[in-house]
Amino acid sequence: NSYISQELEKNIRKLHAITKNAVTDGRYIVFGAGSTQLLNAAVYALSMNMSSPAKVVAEKPFYPVYKEQTEFFKAKLFEFHGDASLLRNGTSNTIENVIEFVASPNNPDGNLKKAVLEGPSVKTIHDYAYYWPHYTAIPAPADEDLMIFTMSKLTGHAGSRFGWAIVKDKDVYENMLKYKSLADSGTSKDTQLRALKLIKVVLEDGGQGIFNFAYKTMRGRWTKLNHVLSLSKRFKLQEIPPSFCKYSQTVRGASPAFAWLKCAKEEDSNCHKVLHHEANILGREGGSFNAEDRYVRLSLVKSADDFNLLLDRLKELVSMEEQ
Ligand code: PMP
Repeated sequence: NSYISQELEKNIRKLHAITKNAVTDGRYIVFGAGSTQLLNAAVYALSMNMSSPAKVVAEKPFYPVYKEQTEFFKAKLFEFHGDASLLRNGTSNTIENVIEFVASPNNPDGNLKKAVLEGPSVKTIHDYAYYWPHYTAIPAPADEDLMIFTMSKLTGHAGSRFGWAIVKDKDVYENMLKYKSLADSGTSKDTQLRALKLIKVVLEDGGQGIFNFAYKTMRGRWTKLNHVLSLSKRFKLQEIPPSFCKYSQTVRGASPAFAWLKCAKEEDSNCHKVLHHEANILGREGGSFNAEDRYVRLSLVKSADDFNLLLDRLKELVSMEEQ
């Protein structure tokens, strides 16, 4: 396919081999305008081989775009069907024509996840935006049917709009290529050259530079945040257990991209409002992730200055509890 730089594809495979985060042997690769475009290209491609409309689901709390995009594009082929675990536990025992989004590590809570549904007519889209050594231990190379990665969370070049999907099935691959060709005639050559340069720089020292730096930075932030909030009875952070990392060959403590904070007191039913009004901290409401507003998501991927400001404001808020 003339839209796709072989050199870039080769370097992407090398990158996964070094980070040990995904199997690429014998798989097809599709490029996208960020991973955002590929999320919907994947829904299209998978639903084309199902009886319509396919039910698109995700276990809560989930990244809002899965629902927003599926509903906005509103095709005859698919519809958003809500929380994946409702299908599993509900009275409907026929789990058919289902497409499940699985983000691992999950946005918002940073936990490694597996699909909650299984069966011959369940297809999954694994969103691995954060499956890099900065944000999580890499317990094993991901080996799923349809896996999506992005430059945005690898080097931070979200504005270059480059993502890629690793696809097992040839039919699905071809349908995704068709989507891509009709949506925008293929990824811009400028974008591909930019991504190639970035990945080559990452690979120069076998990834050591960026991955060690980014893990240390994210780990440091998580440790400081836990320390501040360990003094609080009002706010609780999510727990992410340490895990053996194939990339670093050590057990690694958590280093997530987001804090998924819970307001533990009955009266603090909107945690976003509490932080905003009492400490001038802006997060994202739990409700947008299909969870309770008792939760709020705080981003930890920001400049050092902004992170330190967040920490200072939280410290002050927590210190007021004791009075
Ligand atoms: N998936 C997840 C889970 C994300 O958090 C994001 C970015 N917020 C994306 C996909 C999309 O990123 P991009 O389109 O920049 O690749």
